[in-house]
Amino acid sequence: MNFSFWENETFFNNIDVCIIGSGIVGLSAAYYLKNNNPKLKVVILERGMLPSGASTKNAGFACFGSPSELLDDLKINSEEKVFSLLSKRFQGLKLLRENIGDSNIGFIQTGGFEIFGKEDDVLYEECVEKLDYLNEQIFKITGIKNCFRNADEKIDSFGFGNVEHIIESIAEGQVNTGEMMAALLRKVQSLGVIILNGIDVRDIKATTSEVVLSCNNNLELKSKKLLAATNGFAKQLMPELDVKPARAQVLITEPIIDLKLKGVFHYDKGYYYFRNVGNRILFGGGRNLDFNKEETTAFGLTEKVQQRLEEILRTIIIPGTPFKIEQRWSGIMGVGAEKSTILKQVSSNIYCAVRMGGMGVALGTLSGKKASEMIVMKT
Ligand SMILES: Cc1cc2nc3c(=O)[nH]c(=O)nc-3n(C[C@H](O)[C@H](O)[C@H](O)COP(=O)(O)OP(=O)(O)OC[C@H]3O[C@@H](n4cnc5c(N)ncnc54)[C@H](O)[C@@H]3O)c2cc1C
Repeated sequence: MNFSFWENETFFNNIDVCIIGSGIVGLSAAYYLKNNNPKLKVVILERGMLPSGASTKNAGFACFGSPSELLDDLKINSEEKVFSLLSKRFQGLKLLRENIGDSNIGFIQTGGFEIFGKEDDVLYEECVEKLDYLNEQIFKITGIKNCFRNADEKIDSFGFGNVEHIIESIAEGQVNTGEMMAALLRKVQSLGVIILNGIDVRDIKATTSEVVLSCNNNLELKSKKLLAATNGFAKQLMPELDVKPARAQVLITEPIIDLKLKGVFHYDKGYYYFRNVGNRILFGGGRNLDFNKEETTAFGLTEKVQQRLEEILRTIIIPGTPFKIEQRWSGIMGVGAEKSTILKQVSSNIYCAVRMGGMGVALGTLSGKKASEMIVMKT
């Protein structure tokens, strides 16, 4: 395609920082870059017509770790690493709420709840035994007293079946994922960041003074600096990174009359997660049923996972309540051997902020901020 002089001048030439990926991380990095230095020409390239990875597909849990998740993490990681990650999730949520505003992201502090069935007795006992310890650590980081508490009294009021225990996290809540991303897009555009959709970056090459990006439609762009905020797709451009794609499948019900549950819920060590969206239930998870098949960058659904989600809905979440599934979808996360983000300079003028795991709503804003600081130091 032949681009016009105007197109080149306005959109493609003299780019200071090019960001690949318009998910929460790419948008947050652009927000901080432009906010701190309005003169920078910041261009985001996004291959989808919408952000097309995880940021517009997720469950919208504003959470920083359930008790069993934290204890699981402590089995393989040092105390310092586990609570440093918790701190980043907490800080990330705080920044997101401050930057965009609670009403614009649909934040509601509903509380988060981990539910335990009969077969989870050992896990529950382990959590209860360590609850004081976890609360102390969380207090040191967040200033929140007694974050976790037993909330068995809520089992009946939520209408669960086969649930023996609940541990509540009083500080957690939900965001409206769509509203959050729309508000973030508006904010970034209002600062003058250019977002170009439908541009698939196929190759990147760094020279000493700039980065050359080869894209679809024979488009070649040059930028002084490049940030890859490509998360689960990171290996496509940077094969050396330890990031694997991890597909997550989700469903949402039609509205359910008199739905009792409200909040964000974790089940089976976080392999399953559900919440209310008004009077619907959004329910996702089940990647552990077939880790290999779900290690893909291809969007899609499998019968195995979808059937298990429906079975848990029927037997545990809303037993005895008729429901219909309104919609199903999937998103692609980025995970790796370590449960931590990769924020680093990859080569001369090229940086990455990837591997947000299942925590990017919480981690994304802080990761974008840190990425912008990494770049600005050298600009
Ligand atoms: C179903 C699901 C539920 C989740 N629930 C939660 C939750 O409740 N709470 C939570 O904290 N986290 C949750 N997450 C995780 C969270 O959504 C992600 O960690 C976060 O959105 C990652 O943001 P990102 O900007 O790094 O990546 P993404 O949002 O994936 O953005 C990367 C973007 O890069 C673009 N891209 C990639 N390669 C190229 C290329 N070569 N050229 C152009 N564009 C490219 C992609 O199209 C994509 O839009 C969930 C994820 C999923 C999938």
